[in-house]
Amino acid sequence: MRFFRMSGVHVPHRKNTAGNAPVRMPPPASVLIPLSMGIGAPSTPTVQPGDKVLVGQKIAEAGGFVGAAIFSSVSGTVKKTESYRDVFGRTVNALLIDSDGEMTPDPTLAPVAVTTAKALVDAARACGLVGLGGAGFPTAVKLAADPAKVDYVLLNGAECEPYITSDTRTMLDRTEELVAGMKLLRDLYSATVVVGIERNKPEAVKKIRAAIAGDAGLSVKVLPGSYPQGGEKVLIYNCTGRIVGEGKLPLDVGCIVLNVTTTVELMKYLATGMPLVERCLTVDGSAVKEPKNVIVPIGTRMQDVFDFCGGFQSEPGKILYGGPMMGIAVPDAGFPVMKTTNAIVALNERDAILPDPTPCIRCGKCANTCPLHLTPFAIGEAVQKKDAGELAKLKVTLCMECGCCSFICPAHRPLVQQNKLGKAILKAATPPKGGK
Ligand code: SF4
Ligand code: SF4
Repeated sequence: MRFFRMSGVHVPHRKNTAGNAPVRMPPPASVLIPLSMGIGAPSTPTVQPGDKVLVGQKIAEAGGFVGAAIFSSVSGTVKKTESYRDVFGRTVNALLIDSDGEMTPDPTLAPVAVTTAKALVDAARACGLVGLGGAGFPTAVKLAADPAKVDYVLLNGAECEPYITSDTRTMLDRTEELVAGMKLLRDLYSATVVVGIERNKPEAVKKIRAAIAGDAGLSVKVLPGSYPQGGEKVLIYNCTGRIVGEGKLPLDVGCIVLNVTTTVELMKYLATGMPLVERCLTVDGSAVKEPKNVIVPIGTRMQDVFDFCGGFQSEPGKILYGGPMMGIAVPDAGFPVMKTTNAIVALNERDAILPDPTPCIRCGKCANTCPLHLTPFAIGEAVQKKDAGELAKLKVTLCMECGCCSFICPAHRPLVQQNKLGKAILKAATPPKGGK
C-alpha cells in the first residue's frame, strides 16, 4: 500500500510574521479560562468565586488520566464560573478571573529536577501541559511510554498551515531551551531525537543544526514544502520511513511526537516551576491591522488580542482558532485563547466567502491529493447513503481532516465536513468495545 505521497498541496504560505519576534501583551482586565481545553475530561475547579489567585497557582485539577490541570494566568480574584457553547457545540464551564494588573507569580513555584522518564511524565502532568500545536493531547500521556519501546522522539516544527509562525519563532528565539529538551529526551528515552522542519524555514534549520553540531542522536530533518507536513503520520513517515497503520498509534512504530513549543514549555517548567499559563500565538489575516506574534495569558479574549494588534482594518467575515486549512471558525471575538491556540486569524468579508459547491465531476483530484490515499468522492457517496459498512471499507476514520481535498476540489465540495459526518455515522453504527 502506498502512503504519504510527497505531493500534498501547495498552499499560499503567507508567513507574514515569521520575521517578527513575539511581543508580550499587557495583562487584560480579565481572563476567561475554560475548564476544557483539549482532548480528555474537563478539569475540576479548586477555587471559588472571591478567592485571590496568583500567576501559576493551580485553579483546576485534571479530570482524569487523559486530562490536564489548569493554572491561573493572571494574579487577581476569581469572579465566577461562566458557561458557554464552544466551537464544537459542547457546553463548557470557564473561570472568569479579574486581573489586578500586577501579574504576581506564585512564590511557591520552584525548579523541578528530572532524572528519569517517569519523573518527566510526572512533571508534564504537574504543569498541565498539552500538545500546543493545536491537538491538545495531554503531554504526560504521550510521554508515558516504556523507554525500551521508543526509538525516536520526533519534534514537530513543520508548521505547515498558512499564516502561523509561532513555532517558527520558538525555534528561532528559544533554540537553547529546545536543544536542552532534545538532549533530555534523547537521554531519558535512549532515543534518536529529530526535529522536522519544512524547508521554507531555512533560518530555523540552520540555527538548530548549529546548536546540535557534534551531538550524537540529535538531528534536523528538512521536510518538503508541501502541505500537510505537520500531520503526525506524515511527519513520522518523512522522518523515519515508518507507517502508522489504521487504528495504530505512533508508539506502535516506536515513536513519540511532540510539538517544538510543547517541548520548550516543558523545559521552562523544569527550569522555573512555572506551569503552562501563557502562550505565543500568531495574529494575522486580511482583516487584522497589525499582524504579529503575541505572548498572552491563557484565557485572554480574542478581542483583547486583536485590539493589541491595532484592531481590524476591515470588518472580519470570519475569525478562526488556527489557520485557514484546519482552523475552526468562532462565532465572535469574545472567545478566549486556550492552551491549544497557536493562532487567531481574522479574514475580511471578501476572503471569508466560500464559493457555492457544485456537483462532483469525478475528476479524482481529491483522491490524488490525499496524503493518506483516501477517496473523498467515494466517501461522499457513502455518507449520502449513510452506509457505515462502506465508510469502514473506505477507511474514513484515517482522515486527519487536513483539508487538502477540499482545497483542491474544483467543485468546491465541503469534503472535510463530509468526512467528519462519515466518521460520526460510522461511530454511531459501531458497537462500543466490549459490547455485542
Ligand atoms: S475533487 Fe471534487 S469534483 Fe473532483 S472527484 Fe473529488 S469531490 Fe469530485
Ligand atoms: S481531509 Fe482527509 S480525505 Fe481530505 S486530504 Fe486530508 S486526510 Fe485526505
